[in-house]
Amino acid sequence: MSENFQTDLLIIGSGPAGYTAGVYASRAMLEPILVQGIQPGGQLTITTDVENWPGDTMVLGPDLMTRMEEHARSIGVNVIQDHIVEVDLKNKPFRAKGDSGNIFTSKALILATGAQAKWLGLPSEDYFKGHGVSACATCDGFFFRGQEVVVVGGGNTAVEEALFLTKFASKVTLIHRRDELRADRILQQRLFENEKIVPLWNHVLVEITGENDPKSVTGLVIRNTQDGSMKTLCCSGVFIAIGHTPSSELFVDNLETREGGYIVTEPGTTRTSIPGVFAAGDLVDSTYRQAVTSAGMGCMAALDAVKFLAEAD
Ligand code: FAD
Ligand code: NAP
Repeated sequence: MSENFQTDLLIIGSGPAGYTAGVYASRAMLEPILVQGIQPGGQLTITTDVENWPGDTMVLGPDLMTRMEEHARSIGVNVIQDHIVEVDLKNKPFRAKGDSGNIFTSKALILATGAQAKWLGLPSEDYFKGHGVSACATCDGFFFRGQEVVVVGGGNTAVEEALFLTKFASKVTLIHRRDELRADRILQQRLFENEKIVPLWNHVLVEITGENDPKSVTGLVIRNTQDGSMKTLCCSGVFIAIGHTPSSELFVDNLETREGGYIVTEPGTTRTSIPGVFAAGDLVDSTYRQAVTSAGMGCMAALDAVKFLAEAD
């Protein structure tokens, strides 16, 4: 049954930014409500080893996010399972509607809806999604035991996906549009040392081919970016790892955004173009996009919201 919730502070999103904002806001006695969205715990729940979270030499992404949720709940954050489908930022109090029919009204709002995987936009990619085409090796790698797979991209995600897939696949081809990776050096080194991974430089994916009944991927058509030549490649799975796009579609009509749909905040703060609305994490940040920087911004957003609410009273 749907409910009406009223709070001083509503936090939308349950990644590192959202949970950290919750912890700080709760310690400031704001009794915040946090709406988790369809991916409780955010992007780190679809990865395995996290090796750059301070204090943990290595921690599994889902475990880290479970701990953050437990921390937030234990300190009094009201964590609600719902997904916001509408927001009214023009009127006060702010109003958000959940997919469940829940209505949330709040004096201040922290947006921490993060980012989602980008797709190439090919019709064949769309056609085979979930049938051999994926953007999450942790979720789907298991289905490709003993088979040949391809990863597209040259950043940290692509390299981590490729390394993870070697646990299952017989061969992993990493297709990158340039001849240089942008992934961290340490990850590159692990990639080059792994005998199961074959980098294929200066190529882009043109089409994914396969069977219709049942739907399954059997290969790819790829183009050489240097000479334009085309060739085919056999594989059973394709993992697209070409970056992320901010989950800002609910807010773009009301808040100032910049190229790529990132929410604009006043430099050095988390204040958006509407007083009382704060934004943090990958929703704002196109540069660093790390768990620790998102958590840092979540902290800033909570402190900014505390100040705003104190001055509004
Ligand atoms: P996210 O983690 O993206 O969380 C967004 C949250 O918003 C989710 O809970 C979602 O459910 C919620 N949400 C979205 N829309 C709505 C809505 N309409 N209503 C309610 N809730 C909503 N960073 C590192 O520092 N180290 C790593 O090792 C690392 N590994 C990574 C591996 C992978 C595969 C990926 C994809 C990313 C990795 N990152 C890593 C980056 C890191 O995950 C992100 O920088 C970080 O999670 C961003 O945190 P966030 O809180 O801004 O948003
Ligand atoms: P990213 O760093 O933006 O890299 C995207 C990669 O995909 C780039 O190599 C890019 O090529 C390529 N690409 C983009 N569009 C393409 C297209 N249309 N066709 C073919 N290739 C395309 O994205 P990411 O790897 O997802 O990382 C996102 C953020 O999360 C980064 O800040 C990253 O550091 C962070 N992250 C961190 C870790 C970690 O710390 N261990 C792990 C994962 C992610 P070009 O290089 O030519 O631009």
